[in-house]
Amino acid sequence: MLNGTHSIVVATLGEGELLGEMALIDAQTRSTTATAIGTTELLIIPRSYVIQKMFTADPTLRLFLQVILDRYRDMRSRIMNVLDSVTNQENESDSAIHPSQPPEQLITTLMDEYNEMQSRVLEALNGNTDAFGIAGERHNIDGMYKEDADSTASEVSMGNSLQVALEEKQFELLFQPIMDLQSGRIAGCEALIRWHHPELGMLSPNKFIGILEETGLILSVGAWALENACNTAQRFNELSASIGIPALYMSINLSGKQFETANLAADIGIIIDRTGINPKQIKLEITESLLMLEPARAISSLQELQELGISVAIDDFGVGYSSFSYLQHFPIDTLKIDRSFVSTMLKNSKAMAIVHSLVLLAKNLKLKIIAEGVEHPTELAKLKEYGCDYVQGFMISEPITENQFMELIQSNTHIPHTDT
Ligand code: C2E
Ligand code: CA
Ligand code: CA
Repeated sequence: MLNGTHSIVVATLGEGELLGEMALIDAQTRSTTATAIGTTELLIIPRSYVIQKMFTADPTLRLFLQVILDRYRDMRSRIMNVLDSVTNQENESDSAIHPSQPPEQLITTLMDEYNEMQSRVLEALNGNTDAFGIAGERHNIDGMYKEDADSTASEVSMGNSLQVALEEKQFELLFQPIMDLQSGRIAGCEALIRWHHPELGMLSPNKFIGILEETGLILSVGAWALENACNTAQRFNELSASIGIPALYMSINLSGKQFETANLAADIGIIIDRTGINPKQIKLEITESLLMLEPARAISSLQELQELGISVAIDDFGVGYSSFSYLQHFPIDTLKIDRSFVSTMLKNSKAMAIVHSLVLLAKNLKLKIIAEGVEHPTELAKLKEYGCDYVQGFMISEPITENQFMELIQSNTHIPHTDT
């Protein structure tokens, strides 16, 4: 017997006989007995894994899976109603199924419902998005994915709009300053994408990066972001040179799909040549989980980037599958302490201890360290006391446009808050 967190049990018994696969759909505890004939393989897949897979699946497939699961639950609850009614002889189901029907009639009615469900699936596959009432009223059934169906449908249409967004120049990069904590000067910035949606207005990346990744459009949008960030960095260079301050570095987020491409370093090399940027000014931000998927490949990609002169930062450090062993092997340059630790450090002594330890860890490994999401002077003072190298957050500045950033460079790169 397995508890509710282990939802799928696939027992391979004898010649590929499968048991328990419907447990995928229902959360409650299930039990089963099986006699193993020969070698038995029991595979337990945690429910969280299934949910994670569901949410990273292609949106169209997800939509269909959701409606099919909804219908399965609907059917199941109707059958349970019937069984209850037959046993208790009291419940009246609102379905076409009626407890007083003779068993043969019950089976015919259930078969009719099943056939109707099948024809609706076919209709949906043929493009009728209302086949399950998605556009109109939803079935009143218990389904954990029910609320998501509408948003998935809108994700599909958003995916289509994203295709034209690039051609119609609806994307923009904003730049958030990163401050050198010891000198109080701007050391660089992080490029953060925005989408000026024609109807919905300005959208933050959390609303569309996932869809870009699912549709594969992240490769072209990512390349656009890289090239634009490098061009902007060149304009910042001209200004910095004209007022006699050191060049700023440009940090750019890289998605998993981009990191996995075989020709990542070559593609970035082309952008470097085209924009004329000094590769030493570029920092790519990747998350820990990317490194852990295929460590051997990650090491060679990172080495290729290093050979180009580009540095790499680990973004959102501490919240992923943190494994310190990779810090020894991977050629990385910077750790970015995740905002969740910084924003709770004043209230939670453990978060404070983690922040302090991460700063020491980075120092001992000779890595640079940035604290993200700094909003309060007291956080900043603590980070300075711990010896953190850089800070980024609303207290310094929100992400701003290229022109606003130019003004910031010109006005003075020393930010007064640092003296607190
Ligand atoms: P991230 O890389 O962790 O970027 C930092 C996010 O924290 C940004 O959100 C920034 O606006 C926000 N932030 C910075 N300081 C503060 C603060 O003091 N308080 C609070 N509450 N928030 C702060 P944003 O711009 O909405 O970006 C969200 C995520 O989208 C980014 O998280 C990054 O993962 C992704 N992203 C942004 N631009 C790109 C891009 O060009 N390519 C890719 N692949 N991902 C991107
Ligand atoms: Ca980032
Ligand atoms: Ca981050």
